[in-house]
Amino acid sequence: MYDYLIVGQGLAGTIVGYTLLQKNKSIVMIDQTQGDGCSQIAAGILNPVTGKRQVITWLADKLFPFLFQFYPQMEHTLSSKFFYPIPIYHPFESIEQQNTWIAQSASPQWRDFIFDNLIDITDYQNLIHNYYLGGWIGNWTGYIDVPTMLKSFELEKNPRKTIIRTNFEYNLLKIHTDWVEWQGIKARKIIFCEGKQALQNPFFPHLPFNLVKGEVLDLALKQELEIHQIINQGIFILPLNKRTIRVGATYQWHNLDLTITEQARKELTQKLDKIFKPRYEIIDQKAGIRPATKDRRPIIGLHKTYTNMAIFNGLGSKGASLAPYFAHIFTDFLEGNTTEFTIWQSVLNPYRFERNELDK
Ligand SMILES: Cc1cc2nc3c(=O)[nH]c(=O)nc-3n(C[C@H](O)[C@H](O)[C@H](O)COP(=O)(O)OP(=O)(O)OC[C@H]3O[C@@H](n4cnc5c(N)ncnc54)[C@H](O)[C@@H]3O)c2cc1C
Repeated sequence: MYDYLIVGQGLAGTIVGYTLLQKNKSIVMIDQTQGDGCSQIAAGILNPVTGKRQVITWLADKLFPFLFQFYPQMEHTLSSKFFYPIPIYHPFESIEQQNTWIAQSASPQWRDFIFDNLIDITDYQNLIHNYYLGGWIGNWTGYIDVPTMLKSFELEKNPRKTIIRTNFEYNLLKIHTDWVEWQGIKARKIIFCEGKQALQNPFFPHLPFNLVKGEVLDLALKQELEIHQIINQGIFILPLNKRTIRVGATYQWHNLDLTITEQARKELTQKLDKIFKPRYEIIDQKAGIRPATKDRRPIIGLHKTYTNMAIFNGLGSKGASLAPYFAHIFTDFLEGNTTEFTIWQSVLNPYRFERNELDK
């Protein structure tokens, strides 16, 4: 009997699975193809200062230092390279934005996340329009090459891990008091990590998902360029190598399919052309569906009836930064160490919305 059956080997399932293996548990994972999960196109950017108004993200002081231990250790265990700690440069769009940044940057909370200096315009004159200078977000920033991470996890040989490529059919799951069984596979507990497909999960109906489609472009640069940071101004410009950059992403709450659209291509190139100077050619365009939630908090917790059934989902547009810390405290919780997870339970509990409805 396995300790855990995990449904889905996207970013969520992989990080939960890896965390369980680190805690000496055995896992079996079911994932149909991995191919259409949004983890395959995620830019994997780790950015603690986001949004139009540039605010420090939820729990940044807890999540980000954790990531910077987690990912290097995971790379080491899997003998792979997928973690790239590089700074983020945020060019200002106006003098007002520059002033706000300078004022905010004096606060103690900001000190951990930004670099002091505003960059001199001449440093970027061949790369971007940098009329109002910009701020550096550093220390805890970078990106994860998510597809490489998932592949390395799949390929790593570990006698306590099995990955099966098939569709998990919910109606074949048998739930016992202390274990579950699916197609002859037995495990003590089951954790669902199906991303957007959670909407088909009959065990967790009515969860407050608010799926968001996103598209990205890969561009070939006409000339080689050394870009050592992510540039972020309404869009991100992520250097993949000297010749290729990735640009994204769009947010669209309707037509939630995986078709790439002319509209997204136009939106991204218009934003890019406002800021980016080098000439380029579009070589690829991809779409994915983020498993976002109405209150932008993950959905992590136990089933209200079956205590050996759990869900780890709702990572939205920040899976790479949210998953490691929450996988750590949630797997501790599943193993009986409830201390840290209990603090967050009311925020993350999958049934909080139903309860709120009842409270009214
Ligand atoms: C355009 C775009 C850009 C993004 N950029 C970033 C970024 O810069 N930084 C960041 O942190 N996040 C980013 N994200 C968000 C990130 O991709 C998600 O937070 C994360 O990938 C979610 O992972 P997941 O494992 O929950 O879902 P998924 O990646 O969708 O994985 C779910 C997996 O479950 C499998 N599955 C589902 N149901 C079944 C079933 N019944 N049987 C078998 N298998 C099943 C699927 O095949 C899939 O492999 C971006 C997303 C998009 C779309």
